[in-house]
Amino acid sequence: MGKILVFIEHQNGQIKRSSLELLTAASASKNVVVAFAIGQGSAQLKDVVGKHGGSELFSINATADSSYNPELYTLIATDIIKKTNPFLVLAGASALGKDLWPRVSARLDSALATDCIGLSINGESVEARRPVYSGKCFARVGLDGALKIVTMRPNQLPVQETSASCQLQDLSIQPGGLKTILEQVVKGASEKLDLTEANIIVSGGRGLKDPANFKLLENLAEVLGATVGASRAVVDAGWVPHEMQVGQTGKTVAPSLYIAVGISGAIQHLAGMSGSKVIVAINNDANAPIFQKATYGIVGDFAEIIPALTEEFRKVLK
Ligand SMILES: Cc1cc2nc3c(=O)[nH]c(=O)nc-3n(C[C@H](O)[C@H](O)[C@H](O)COP(=O)(O)OP(=O)(O)OC[C@H]3O[C@@H](n4cnc5c(N)ncnc54)[C@H](O)[C@@H]3O)c2cc1C
Repeated sequence: MGKILVFIEHQNGQIKRSSLELLTAASASKNVVVAFAIGQGSAQLKDVVGKHGGSELFSINATADSSYNPELYTLIATDIIKKTNPFLVLAGASALGKDLWPRVSARLDSALATDCIGLSINGESVEARRPVYSGKCFARVGLDGALKIVTMRPNQLPVQETSASCQLQDLSIQPGGLKTILEQVVKGASEKLDLTEANIIVSGGRGLKDPANFKLLENLAEVLGATVGASRAVVDAGWVPHEMQVGQTGKTVAPSLYIAVGISGAIQHLAGMSGSKVIVAINNDANAPIFQKATYGIVGDFAEIIPALTEEFRKVLK
């Protein structure tokens, strides 16, 4: 049995679903699963890590909070990998993960597969599936060498609990000689769940005609417990902020349900959401390309369909 190291992402002790998915996948492989988390609140994750198959959690307190500093996190990650000696490191392909793991991989000269949507672990042999050419094709990637690192997109793997118990190892690191000092993190105004973590997304495009019509999507999102996203056309038009943009130059999302309203389905938009499990397209043009990707399509005017859907969902879900 080899060892798998899982990097736990959290916000002040609130673990991200993507980390639970990774723990579940690691534990299902019957290898030994150890995990590490950085920053304030990481020690309190011991029970949840244990419940999802982790036998040991390294809680690392090097900073006052868990804000990301690339230089510091690279130091910590390389250090903990050397200490635990895993054959595989699993981490989320979040904004943090996309920045951190190529650095760590370069330092340790490891195999690396990033932004994956599928993972198979057989003993110590690892194969990942990742989209290429903006999701037009998929590559099966075999990883070789003593150390392999895989970053996975969220919402691609199931989450399951087990009855394992977890030991906590508190590590205090005093980083010296850092060239980058994180002085301040200014939080965005939105308190809503980030698009990359959302299980349901309702996205709007230029077909909504007017920024005020995003209110209809917000109403639907509230009933469904969804997060609202957008196409680049409406972000460029200044209707909504860039943090809501889905696509090649926005966020890559993979929710269970993606509802695209008044979005044509340009390849650059599809690149960010085609990994969604179920796609519902609402568009008044039956030939819109989005319908080729959609699981379900509704041809019609959003102004009639969205309020009707909202009412129906309100009745069913109350
Ligand atoms: C380098 C590059 C990067 C890009 N990155 C991104 C990206 O990250 N994300 C992204 O989204 N785009 C991106 N784009 C832009 C992309 O090519 C498209 O221009 C954009 O996605 C179109 O947005 P849209 O679908 O909202 O608008 P449109 O293409 O104008 O589509 C509007 C749709 O609404 C429908 N509609 C109109 N009226 C109604 C109605 N009453 N009811 C229902 N439907 C209606 C229309 O039939 C149409 O299909 C990028 C482009 C480039 C060149």
